[in-house]
Amino acid sequence: MSEQTQARAAVVWKKGGPFQLEDVTIDAPQADEVLVRMVATGMCHTDMIVRDQYYPVPLPAVLGHEGAGIVERVGSRVTKVVPGDHVVMAFTFCGKCDLCQSGHPAYCREFFARNMGGGRIDGSTATQKEGKPLHDHFFGQSSFGTLAIATERNIVKVRKDVPLELLGPLGCGISTGAGAVLNSMKVTAGRSFAAFGSGAVGLSAIMAARLAGATTLIAVDTKPHRLKLALELGATHAVNGQDEDAVEFIRRVTGGKGVDFTLESTGHPSVLRQAVDALDILGTCGVVGAPPMGTTASFDVNDLMVPGKSIRGIVEGDSVPDVFIPQLIDLYSQGRFPFDKLVKFYPLTQINEAAKDSEKGDTLKPVIRMTQSN
Ligand SMILES: [Zn+2]
Ligand SMILES: [Zn+2]
Repeated sequence: MSEQTQARAAVVWKKGGPFQLEDVTIDAPQADEVLVRMVATGMCHTDMIVRDQYYPVPLPAVLGHEGAGIVERVGSRVTKVVPGDHVVMAFTFCGKCDLCQSGHPAYCREFFARNMGGGRIDGSTATQKEGKPLHDHFFGQSSFGTLAIATERNIVKVRKDVPLELLGPLGCGISTGAGAVLNSMKVTAGRSFAAFGSGAVGLSAIMAARLAGATTLIAVDTKPHRLKLALELGATHAVNGQDEDAVEFIRRVTGGKGVDFTLESTGHPSVLRQAVDALDILGTCGVVGAPPMGTTASFDVNDLMVPGKSIRGIVEGDSVPDVFIPQLIDLYSQGRFPFDKLVKFYPLTQINEAAKDSEKGDTLKPVIRMTQSN
C-alpha cells in the first residue's frame, strides 16, 4: 500500500485568501488516525475568520471543519470505525484533561492547540504540496479537500440511511446553535427565547428551542429572507433590527418582561448589548458569535446584577459529538429538525463563491460537495 495519497485541496496561502485549489499529497494515517474520502464539507464562519487571520492559525493551511465522508483507511490502533463506514467529523480534543473527562470536550484545555495549531499536537503535519509541508489538522480534519486525515476521537460514525452529503454541518455550525439551546442553556417547555442573528447558528437554535417546547420564539436579523425562513422553522415572531429596535420589540411581545434566553451569534458587541438588555429577570444570554481577538463589549452592571442575568460563552454547543450528532440525525430523519433547509451545495471549484455568498448573507450554510470533476 502506498504511503502517500494524491488529493485536491483548497489551500489558503495568505491572509484574506482566496482558497486556492491545489494538487497535494497526504501521508498515510498514523496509529490513531483515519483517512476519510470526503463526500461534502460545510463552510462555517470560523473558516472565513481564520482565512482572514482573526485567529492566528499558521498559513499556508488547508481549512474546513464540517466534514462528512467515507472511511478509506484506518491507523493500526483505530477500533471505532472500519473502511466503508460513514462518518461526520467534529472538533478534536485531548480526551484526558479534567474538562474532557467530565463531559465537556468543547472546553478541552488543549482545544486551541489541537484545533487551530496548524498540525498535530507534536507540530507535525500530513499534507504537502510538491514536497513543501502545508498546515493541516484544522479542527482535527482540514476537510476542504477530496481526502482528509482525522483522528479516531473526532470522527462520529453515522447511519447510512440519511444523505451523507448533508451531514457535515452537524460537526460544527448546526451543533453550535442546537447545543447552545439544548446542552448549555437547557431551554425547556413554555420558556421564551430570542436569536440575535438568524444565520445557520441562530436558525439551528430556533429549531432546537422549538423542539424543547419554547412557546415564544423570536428571530432577530437584518435580512428579510432569513426572517421568513425563521418563521417557517418555528419562530413565533421575527424582527428586522434595521427597521425596528429589537429590544423594544421583544419587550412588547413579552408584555414588558423580556425573554428567558437569548443567543448572540453575530459577533457584534452592539448586538451582544441588545441580547443582554432583552433578557427577563434571571435570564441567560449565550454568546457564540466570534469577533476579532481583543474585542470588548459593555453592559449596564446594575441591569445585570439586580435582575440576576447571566452572560455565558458557549463553544461548539458544549456537545459530546459522539452523543449529540447521532441525536440530531435521528431528529432530522423524523422531520423534527429540518436543517437541510439551510443548506446550499457548491462544487469544490466554487469554494470562493460559497464563501462570498455566505459572507453576504445570501447563503445560510454552504456545503462544498466533492465531485469527480474536482
Ligand atoms: Zn481535554
Ligand atoms: Zn465552525
